[in-house]
Amino acid sequence: MNISVIGSGYVGTVSAACFAELGHHVVCIDIDPDKVDMINRGEPPIYEDGLEELLSNHAGRTLRATADYDDAVSGTDISFICVGTPSDDDGNIDLSIVKGACASLGAALAKKDRYHVVVVKSTVVPQTTEKVVVPIIEGVSGKKAGVDFGVAMNPEFLREGKAVYDFMHPDKIVVGAIDKRSDDAVSALYAGLDGETIHVDPSTAEMIKYVNNSFLATKISFSNEIGNICKKLGIDTYQVMDAVGRDSRISPYFLNSGAGFGGSCFPKDVKALIGKAREQGYEPVLLNSVIKVNEVQPLLMIDLLESRLGNLGDLTIAVLGLAFKNDTDDIRESRSIPVIQALLERGAVVTAYDPMAGDTMKQLFDDTIVHYCDNAAQALESAHGCLVMTEWDEFRSLNSEFATMKRPLVIDGRNVISCDGIEYVGLCW
Ligand code: NAD
Repeated sequence: MNISVIGSGYVGTVSAACFAELGHHVVCIDIDPDKVDMINRGEPPIYEDGLEELLSNHAGRTLRATADYDDAVSGTDISFICVGTPSDDDGNIDLSIVKGACASLGAALAKKDRYHVVVVKSTVVPQTTEKVVVPIIEGVSGKKAGVDFGVAMNPEFLREGKAVYDFMHPDKIVVGAIDKRSDDAVSALYAGLDGETIHVDPSTAEMIKYVNNSFLATKISFSNEIGNICKKLGIDTYQVMDAVGRDSRISPYFLNSGAGFGGSCFPKDVKALIGKAREQGYEPVLLNSVIKVNEVQPLLMIDLLESRLGNLGDLTIAVLGLAFKNDTDDIRESRSIPVIQALLERGAVVTAYDPMAGDTMKQLFDDTIVHYCDNAAQALESAHGCLVMTEWDEFRSLNSEFATMKRPLVIDGRNVISCDGIEYVGLCW
């Protein structure tokens, strides 16, 4: 099938490359000309394991990119909307980017005679596809949903860092279509993949995505709260959760306590669901707590640091790990951000190292504010303390590097450091 993919970020680029790998012809659309050029050169605009290989295999053959909606939409049968859905200042979903993409898509559809299917892959709160996307496209194109064009909501469950693998090996494929014709078109694209396809209506598909993320976020905040209690009692929370996770009703995943969750999805999606619930007159007590625990958690590392070092003013603190998790350069909502902010507010000198995310973090804290280092050893040299914020594999083998610190004090927020001769403090263990 001929597919256009609107938005070339994590979801759009990975989906486009994987659809090409599945044998489809794909055109990426992005308003950022640099991303368009990169994709056409076969270079991924973001880092994802396996993505470079897929793009270099398919770019210039069955995959290309453009900034021109008319060009992309006229030659394809189905368009996936994969643009960002950030939080607004109140934490509610900001649909302005989705609305802009829908207006451009509607204008391109107005010039097209053939039937086309519009698929929302961006994470949007329940009712958005039918109450926001469809009216905009109908209004701009002058066409009728269910007659001239099909509509479906097809949420994406990929994990950053494992996005290509997850797309090709889904646990489930959710298709929330307004009618059978739209459903058939979307479902057919995934033929050949193993995951079971779940057929629902658009609002249910939208809700499934939020519940999926909110449940995982809840597991993490729950584990962090238990970890905080265990720490006070001198109990190893990892031993506790290892045993608890063997209960098949619970599963061993997302039970690691630590500095909390970040990334482009969990924090904003839980907040967006809270906002949607409030709009319906319901105050979601549990979801509010999930966010509250997550905001407190990284700052507990500062408390632990101060309990050992006292006033942090003019002390050098090494922050190891800037990405919100390992194997990505994404720093969105990374737990290292509030930690660096708190260190700077206390007058500490911050040295920082991340295998991939240093350059992205410079956009938030430039290199006159934070001293970015080329490796962990450099960041640790002469530091009075160290905070481990990301679960990078290379941190597991750190050992002699700590010996060059003024005081080898390590506050571990991810349970990755194990070596002798340091003053080790686990966040929840
Ligand atoms: P992103 O910000 O990385 O990428 C969005 C892209 O859209 C950017 O390249 C931007 O230039 C482009 N864009 C903006 N306006 C446009 C327009 N009018 N026309 C064409 N392109 C436009 O976003 P992302 O992380 O890929 O997330 C996209 C959506 O998928 C979000 O709703 C997100 O919640 C959801 N999601 C993300 C993940 C993830 O792990 N990142 C996983 C599942 C779902």
